[in-house]
Amino acid sequence: MLFKISILFALFYCSTTVFGQSKRYEFAKGVMGSPFRLVYYAADDSLAAKAAHFAFARLDTLNEIMSDYRDGSEINRLSATSGSGAWVRVSDALFDVLAISKKISRRTNGAFDVTVGPAVQLWRRAMRRSTFPTEIEIAAARKAVGYRFVKLCRRNQSVRLTRPNMRLDLGGIGKGYAAEAALKVLREFGIASSLLDAGGDLILGVPPPGKSGWDVDINSGGPGTDSLAMIISLTNAGIATSGATYRYLEHEGVKYSHIVDPKTGVGLRFHVRTTVVAPDGTLADALATALSVAGIQKGKKIIRRFPGTKVWLIETNSGKVQEWKTL
Ligand code: AMP
Ligand code: MG
Repeated sequence: MLFKISILFALFYCSTTVFGQSKRYEFAKGVMGSPFRLVYYAADDSLAAKAAHFAFARLDTLNEIMSDYRDGSEINRLSATSGSGAWVRVSDALFDVLAISKKISRRTNGAFDVTVGPAVQLWRRAMRRSTFPTEIEIAAARKAVGYRFVKLCRRNQSVRLTRPNMRLDLGGIGKGYAAEAALKVLREFGIASSLLDAGGDLILGVPPPGKSGWDVDINSGGPGTDSLAMIISLTNAGIATSGATYRYLEHEGVKYSHIVDPKTGVGLRFHVRTTVVAPDGTLADALATALSVAGIQKGKKIIRRFPGTKVWLIETNSGKVQEWKTL
């Protein structure tokens, strides 16, 4: 199932319209392996272009810091010190995203955990080779997973990873965090009426001039209409979707997701997809991942700790489709 969240087409017909003093601008670029699209209203062309330049530059910088796919990224250099006992001074952004991650880990009872890297690596390798990891490999990975092994010292802006072989993985939160930071750059240029489409995950600022919100179309993207499709109007919010659309490992007829349960070290088996709307993009991204792990039953308790958050989760258990929707 291909899942798609899009901004209503009708909005784009306004692309050349001038609203009072502001005009609509759109800039697109590939970032972090996804197409990113920035839409906003600004007073003049040169300001608009300058703001886009700095917003995309911020995204590039954050990608260099947070990507575990890049050798030498700050996050990988930090992971390499795990078990050494060293306190490592890190950049503002890395400290910030790790502090937010830890808070979300606590509030999701560990369903969200950026130390899940060793298990994620195991699953990535298993997917490439189409072989199931051995129990020994899974047990070894699990030993190095646990958000409590990440120690943070705010005064020195430094981090200590207390277990050997840890590997931090910001894949579940980094996109939302970076997108949120890009909109902040726009605000520094005085641009508040903005939207960032980060490859299907959206961050929305103040609505377009004359509108009460950004109209977001949520549907399955398949042919025909999705009976569950809907349009919601959002302001100052983030919306993110997690789901095993094509990245999964199939073993003895069972599909395992690229999202891993930190407690078992194994990819999720029953999850289909989770969409979360939250007051900011960072939280939406992290919670879409966390609630996928928690599932419907546990998720209902967890969501109470996150005011202003809505969820639409689908999972299948022994062939039966179950849905939880508060959107
Ligand atoms: P998302 O598409 O936002 O749900 O992110 C999925 C990615 O987050 C995976 O590809 C991993 O890099 C990472 N990840 C997997 N499981 C977890 C987890 N339980 N908590 C945090 N990040 C995870
Ligand atoms: Mg996520």
